[in-house]
Amino acid sequence: MPRFRSILDTMPAYKPGKAVVSPDGRSYKLSSNESPFGPLPSVVEAIARAATEIHRYPDPGAVRLTETVAERFGVPYDHVALGAGSVAVAQQILEAVGEPGADVVYAWRSFEAYPLLVGLSGANAVEVPLRDETHDLDAMAEAITPETRLVFVCNPNNPTGTANRTEELVRFLDRVPENVTVVLDEAYREYVRDVDVPDGLTLYRDRPNVAVLRTFSKAYGLAGLRVGYLIGHEPVAAAVRKTLLPFAVNHLAQAAAIASLQAEDELQERVDNVVKERARVRETLLSQGWTVPPTEANFVWLRLGERTMEFAGECAAVGVAVRPFEGEGARISIGDPEANDVFLAAAAEFRR
Ligand code: PMP
Repeated sequence: MPRFRSILDTMPAYKPGKAVVSPDGRSYKLSSNESPFGPLPSVVEAIARAATEIHRYPDPGAVRLTETVAERFGVPYDHVALGAGSVAVAQQILEAVGEPGADVVYAWRSFEAYPLLVGLSGANAVEVPLRDETHDLDAMAEAITPETRLVFVCNPNNPTGTANRTEELVRFLDRVPENVTVVLDEAYREYVRDVDVPDGLTLYRDRPNVAVLRTFSKAYGLAGLRVGYLIGHEPVAAAVRKTLLPFAVNHLAQAAAIASLQAEDELQERVDNVVKERARVRETLLSQGWTVPPTEANFVWLRLGERTMEFAGECAAVGVAVRPFEGEGARISIGDPEANDVFLAAAAEFRR
């Protein structure tokens, strides 16, 4: 019998959102917070051009992409570190800090990958319950001990969509010791419209232990290509660069990410569309009598408790895939207007 690390026995596998098809052949995937829009023509062209070179290894340092990200956000080149999706970047930083005896603090419920990645790194997970569906930053500060190496703050939070405001976040960061790295996971930053929710990049600048995690998977529409990045001061960025598997960010992904940064105006229009639809979806759900936490991301959260799986089943019956968390609730991504309408009709039906 082959032997494996004992942690594998207790770790559930990551469950990705799956598409479902209704009996009459309809399928609306609202389970993975993807962009509902297909790729931009300019991005497809950049990928096609790059495809002529795929017999070569990609640029291991992803120099042009790193430069483009640094210029776009006005940060030094050596503050940027890439990975194959921001989930890989999160794993890289955990590789750099995790070992038995080290604690990693994060809110729960939050991004499903945190407990898996922390477990794999060998560190201990310290989960701090949400308060009113939002990070309880005071309780998180209190959970920090001399063993704490890293804190994840998911802002806006997946799966609740709630976001922490500048004042409370600054108060929290001021309480975190300098030898604890804080990763502000801003996978959904581009969808934030509340001006009191800070851009993590304004918080990291004069805080050497704070880093921002971002992705090309959501607003930039490149989920299938796997590119994410961290912006942090030299020691943190260097740790993420050291733990990158060689050539992990592939050539097509690098080309597509550069082309996406060059097409930000077009992408911004798409994000604005999703934000408008988000308001419509939330307001409609509220008018149907649902409780829906305010959301700054491209999804809404319904706390359904024991009825979660039943609700997901009803949605699946009309071709809508949502993301259920059994016994807790369901997260529903904002799709195109047609998908949203089908979902809203199912939600109304469920309340009858
Ligand atoms: N962080 C958060 C909060 C997420 O919701 C996700 C995707 N579900 C990720 C990181 C990872 O995204 P990716 O690896 O595609 O960049």
